[in-house]
Amino acid sequence: MSTNHYRECPRCRQRAARDKLLAQKKTQESYGKVPAEEYDRLLAESRKKIPLRDILREDYQLGVGTDGVFAVNYRCRCSECNFTYSYQHREVVPLHLGEEAP
Ligand SMILES: [Zn+2]
Repeated sequence: MSTNHYRECPRCRQRAARDKLLAQKKTQESYGKVPAEEYDRLLAESRKKIPLRDILREDYQLGVGTDGVFAVNYRCRCSECNFTYSYQHREVVPLHLGEEAP
């Protein structure tokens, strides 16, 4: 089995959350120090929803081969921030030959 899939990137989400917190802090610190119009603009900016898209491409294969080996191959990459991750695992599956009924 082999497939690819797109989902939201965890690094982009954390970056967006961090940027939103920084914008909120900047807005709070500017209160009374900038003109009202500027404060309103900063406030509106800090309240914007985090726009995230499914840009993390995942490719993976998993299954038991005819050689009796279970294998997982996974990798992902974000086209926005270049976050990558990969994981591989292989193990021989106990087939218990000789234990089945004739
Ligand atoms: Zn990303």
